[in-house]
Amino acid sequence: MSQQHHSTIALSLDTPVASLAGIGPKRAQALAERGISSVADVIAHLPSRYQDWRQRTPVDDLKPGIIAVLEGELSKIDERPMRGRGWRRLATGWLTVDGQRIRVVWFNLPAYMRGYMPRGQRVLVRGRVGVAQDGRLELAHPDVISLAERAPRPVRPVYRLPTAVGQRLFESIVARALPDLAQLIPNSVPDEIRGDAMTIGDALCYLHQPPDAANPAALQAGDSPAHRALAFDELFAFELALALEHRRSEERAGAAFVGEPTLTKKFAAKLSFPLTGAQQQAIKEIGADLERQQQMNRLLMGDVGSGKTVVAFWAALRAVESGYQAAMMAPTELLAEQHFRSFNRMCAGLGVRVTLLIGRIAGYERETVLEGLARGEIDVAFGTQAVIQQKVRIARLGLGIIDEQHRFGVFDRARLKALGATANVLMMTATPIPRSLAMSLFGNLSVSFLDELPPGRTPIATELRSESENARLNEELREEIARGGRIYYVVPLIEGEDDEAKSVANTATKLARAIREARIATLHGRMRSADKDRALRAFRDGALDLLVSTTVVEVGIDVPEATVIVIAAAERYGLAQLHQLRGRVGRGSAPARCILVASDDADEAALARLEVMRRALTGREVAAADLALRGPGDLLGARQTGALPLKFVHLVRDARMIEKARALAEQWLMRDPSLESAASAGARIAVRKMLTQGFSLGDVG
Ligand code: ADP
Ligand code: MG
Repeated sequence: MSQQHHSTIALSLDTPVASLAGIGPKRAQALAERGISSVADVIAHLPSRYQDWRQRTPVDDLKPGIIAVLEGELSKIDERPMRGRGWRRLATGWLTVDGQRIRVVWFNLPAYMRGYMPRGQRVLVRGRVGVAQDGRLELAHPDVISLAERAPRPVRPVYRLPTAVGQRLFESIVARALPDLAQLIPNSVPDEIRGDAMTIGDALCYLHQPPDAANPAALQAGDSPAHRALAFDELFAFELALALEHRRSEERAGAAFVGEPTLTKKFAAKLSFPLTGAQQQAIKEIGADLERQQQMNRLLMGDVGSGKTVVAFWAALRAVESGYQAAMMAPTELLAEQHFRSFNRMCAGLGVRVTLLIGRIAGYERETVLEGLARGEIDVAFGTQAVIQQKVRIARLGLGIIDEQHRFGVFDRARLKALGATANVLMMTATPIPRSLAMSLFGNLSVSFLDELPPGRTPIATELRSESENARLNEELREEIARGGRIYYVVPLIEGEDDEAKSVANTATKLARAIREARIATLHGRMRSADKDRALRAFRDGALDLLVSTTVVEVGIDVPEATVIVIAAAERYGLAQLHQLRGRVGRGSAPARCILVASDDADEAALARLEVMRRALTGREVAAADLALRGPGDLLGARQTGALPLKFVHLVRDARMIEKARALAEQWLMRDPSLESAASAGARIAVRKMLTQGFSLGDVG
């Protein structure tokens, strides 16, 4: 079919972008990778920035670094290949403004400029002022709008798009879709609650095509009535979904743990340390919850190293002494094995039958284990989420514990279903989220907090270094090893996919050369499970001084004797992830250090972020900084997994709105408990979408 034919088709919200004029399979694919597959997705894809084209910059005010908007006449553009740059072509032209000539350059002319800007045309040009090699001012990669063609929007949206899709193309699709379709997007907030706030349709039009009078700085900051309307509408639906989920889980029957505390008592008495107050409190909350006939759905949040594992073990024993089985699931085999081993150590002599279910346990051995679980002859199973949830039948499963669940979907009904109809669920996470935010974001779960670290921990001294100082760093590491210290050295790559120098193997070789006496091993996700296990065990037992690893050590790994963690290319990680990595040390009583090494090409923003990390020591401080620095979608790694179905909400900016949305959602549900009324039509659609989204996330991450 020709493109012309396509463009006459009436659009609907469901129209696939692939069928739009100008969008071939390649562009459609690129857009789909960003979650834009339908016209509705296009409309929901808001500009990431706004350009201010209103004021003209006087030529005399031009100076390097500023963004200038100039009106003038454009000369013919010359293009020539750049030496040594393969296919790249340097395009140069001149803009005449009030009789003065200013050079404009592009490395590769934008497609829209090609054959589009006849010489002598009057144009508006906007770009950053730079200094050319000859010392004169120039504009590099400016945007150009022909004034003969149309008057530019004074406030122009800029979208975050794949390179295959140009701004103008996207803008034109938006322009085609908005007028007919924006008003068809349902409002989840009923009219009577919305009052005179903007509708979704009006808000989307406002943000895609800001009126001339709009304030670009406010738009850029996400501070407009339109932003607030979208955020509130989304939050309202989210809170409805949470409340409905909560109600449903309250109604679900759960295994009640009411056995005599034979095992849990012995366990507590055998512990080599007293429980912290926070641990005792969490155990009390969990114990009370487990006694009830309703299914427990509880989240245990605690900073890295706060001692969540002991609490989980307590809960597992509580299941066993009440006649049930328990399964503890971890995101990696490494962590599952660690839990299995710690449990055996801490619960030795209690007569609890345990098993480890990971890849390397196969064949006959595996069958025996599976049978034992199915017959109820094994009390506690340790394994990865993937294995236990998908392949294992556990006869009397009373409790599923999911450790390091920092990428969960909040409406993860698939997960619960996999665990069986009545199993209680305990999820554990070190994701730094402020308590109040957690309470409102996970309104469908009960939450316990471990907000206290075990005593005797010294804060982890965090230092920021640059790659060029590595020789000195190696010298310090040698001294550390001489003092008996143990070091994690985290690098971003297994093999040199894009940067050989930062691979595990290469780094290990370099360190072996620099610190000859060090006993070094490597650890990464592609190693055979037995080899991973051997490396980690050797490190734990002190047979190794230095472990060069990828971020597989990120979650949960517990070697209290480790004293230093070096994180190479630290700018590549988010704050929450860095905090997790840093938490690998400082788990014992010896002073610990975290050394963040910034790559030489790290940009200023990245360095600023690392500086924040250097100063923020507790999970709470990191959480606050992380929320302020990153968008809402980044929280919980949500951008990757869509864990929180919130596209428009900014958790810092909209913090106060959350409570209001919750209160109104609850009130609305009292009037219309099943969202059946006509006024709830929009809400019904939005809620169903959120719940399905969570559902399909069941096996992700
Ligand atoms: P996380 O909350 O990060 O999962 P862990 O459960 O791995 O933390 O505990 C970290 C370390 O602290 C472990 O070595 C654990 O044995 C120890 N630990 C846990 N609770 C206490 C306590 N109350 N007193 C002293 N050490 C503790
Ligand atoms: Mg842990």
